[in-house]
Amino acid sequence: MRVLILAPVGRDAALLAQIVEALPAEPAIVPNAAAFLAELPLGVGASLLTDEAIRPDHIRGLTSWLSAEPPWSDPPFIILTPAGQTKEYSHQRSKEFSTLGNFTLIERPARPETLQSAVRAALRGRMKQYEVRSRQDALLRANADLEQFAHSASHDLKEPLRNIRIFSELVLRDYGSSLDARGADFLKLVGSSALRMDNLLADLLAYAEASCIEDELPATVEPRDALDAALGNLASAIQETHAEIVAADLPPVRMRSSHLQQLFQNLVGNALKYRRDGCAPRISLASKRVDQYWVFSIADNGIGIEPEHRENIFGIFKRLHTNGQYSGTGMGLAICQRIVERYGGRIWVESEPGRGSRFLFTIPA
Ligand code: ADP
Repeated sequence: MRVLILAPVGRDAALLAQIVEALPAEPAIVPNAAAFLAELPLGVGASLLTDEAIRPDHIRGLTSWLSAEPPWSDPPFIILTPAGQTKEYSHQRSKEFSTLGNFTLIERPARPETLQSAVRAALRGRMKQYEVRSRQDALLRANADLEQFAHSASHDLKEPLRNIRIFSELVLRDYGSSLDARGADFLKLVGSSALRMDNLLADLLAYAEASCIEDELPATVEPRDALDAALGNLASAIQETHAEIVAADLPPVRMRSSHLQQLFQNLVGNALKYRRDGCAPRISLASKRVDQYWVFSIADNGIGIEPEHRENIFGIFKRLHTNGQYSGTGMGLAICQRIVERYGGRIWVESEPGRGSRFLFTIPA
């Protein structure tokens, strides 16, 4: 609620301070432009300035300070212009102030109510900016917590889990002969459950890591390289299922190559996994430009997805099948969604149950 006032001539500053106090808000009078620039970084709800106190070099100083402000911040400036100026003068000053972004010109003499309403509106807008900042901070903290949690979960839990796996195998190997079939089955279940948990933890980590995207956009990558790497990792499933995979020319995109590879791997991997009985998978990848985006599509001839599940399959640990039917963690599509959204795109599915699915995602061009 602090309103900086720069109005060095006559009683201007004192009068403006009275108007601000009546709002109520907290006036802070500064004697000159240098002091004004020094006070700005300490936090300001709005600024009230008289035109004659601002020279072009002050505007440059302000503009350079503004350029270092975080994205949520857009401080408002209310500038009082002299009475009876020509249209050309107003036009020229307006042009000069334009680099300040959030500025309002009010010609003098202005009624106190006019000034008050302008300052009130500016403070309201600034409060909203502060709200955005605190919500953003809370989100960043929550995100960092989730990442930290996923890291500790996967690292700290992996060790005891490994022991469970190793020792259940050792018991089975060294003492298996003294167990009856039921006992041996129980022990095998311990081992396979530990393995499943290992996969869940690895996917949880991949999910957390999908959010670690730098502010700066990475260089463009050739999707063909990411696709080849993904298909290489899926080679045995491709061979076993006799899948036919065709990929049209794919455009270079600004993404981390490992993220694009993960998208292809999860989506093609699903297309292989959710195939129809007795029907070799046919998978086609394509892309097309729609407005400011590239739309990538991965189509299959598999079991398809019922309309009521087409949104919730992107949730964390969300699965439509038991592990006995199809193995999986329910994290693959959640990871894809997180990656795509972090680059400003979206992901969805179109499907005809019993005939196939087409997953589509967009990436800014
Ligand atoms: P997972 O495959 O480990 O279960 P995903 O997040 O990759 O996890 O997928 C979530 C669910 O979406 C799957 O359990 C499956 O029911 C459905 N699904 C994903 N891809 C396909 C597909 N290509 N065809 C049919 N169903 C699919």
